Amino acid sequence: MTQATNEYPVTGYAATSPDSGMAPFDFTRRGLRDDDVLIDITHCGICHSDLHTARNDWGRTTYPIVPGHEITGKVAAVGEAVTRHQVGDRVAIGCMVDSCKQCDHCKQGLEQYCKNGMVGTYGGTDRHDGSKTQGGYSNRIVCREEFVLKVPAALDMADAAPLLCAGITTYSPLRNWKVGPGSKVAVAGLGGLGHMGVKFAAAMGAEVTVLSRTESKREDAAALGAHDFLITTDKDAMKAKSGYFDMVLNTIPVRHNVAPYLHLLKVDGAQVLVGMIDMMPELHTGLLLGRKILTGSGIGGIEETQKMLEFCAEKGITPEIEMIRMDEVNEAYDRMEESDVKYRFVIDMETLG
Ligand SMILES: [Zn+2]
Ligand SMILES: [Zn+2]
Repeated sequence: MTQATNEYPVTGYAATSPDSGMAPFDFTRRGLRDDDVLIDITHCGICHSDLHTARNDWGRTTYPIVPGHEITGKVAAVGEAVTRHQVGDRVAIGCMVDSCKQCDHCKQGLEQYCKNGMVGTYGGTDRHDGSKTQGGYSNRIVCREEFVLKVPAALDMADAAPLLCAGITTYSPLRNWKVGPGSKVAVAGLGGLGHMGVKFAAAMGAEVTVLSRTESKREDAAALGAHDFLITTDKDAMKAKSGYFDMVLNTIPVRHNVAPYLHLLKVDGAQVLVGMIDMMPELHTGLLLGRKILTGSGIGGIEETQKMLEFCAEKGITPEIEMIRMDEVNEAYDRMEESDVKYRFVIDMETLG
């Protein structure tokens, strides 16, 4: 098989240092390998990970970095051996663009937990040529076809974008713990992830409670489909729901004490951390002796992500989004730090110019 060698010129936005902010950046994408597709990006959601990576909050960013892993667009070209996608197809890319596809985890459809390391959509290392991957704040991207999802016709391309990270990150644990009618699910944190968790859990038939420190989100929680609202600083209210929930979906993205949520769980109930909170404060293990599960979950596999998109199309589930222009991304980051977004920014890539 021949390999196309022509690279594609790309325009995008990159951070060039921890305090540079995001600015226009020209770079190239690799020419198509046999199993690659070229995608013209129409939309890209903004995830908290983008902001942390751009600012090197996790200490492992190499610059320049083009963030973005909630990508939707249209197929513009395909490699010679591509069978899954055709030019013009509505497609999407999430948090990973490759994995070994041969280890036990990959074979189970858990590419995100690939034993040889999945390749992140940005800041990852290409398995073949060792180059650094760059993300979706750009006008086009090249990706191995097996890591390209199909966007169902019923989903708007802007709405679909946040599903690729915020959506699958909350959908996957709800499915894994078999949430359905009769389940009692609490969602902690009502941001980009949390609001999707509420919508998914409600659509799956669960009784959904939003956990929050203050009253301020009560009305929003109800509007998103939550049945109840529990204020975590109200000791009596928390005590009244002790041992009540099958699952706590913890989406809080900053360091915090997870112990109060363990009290809320039934025997065999699980608190699933899906937000990156770095080091946890000390935890008394006595809290786990009620056969409670404290665990974490990262995005979802490719097949599961496709199922999630189809579930959203079938049930009419879409994220609450605010569309922005590409040149508004720095302001958007600042607003995200203040939790001033309901609930996900999506960049309209036509504004990239
Ligand atoms: Zn993300
Ligand atoms: Zn693997």
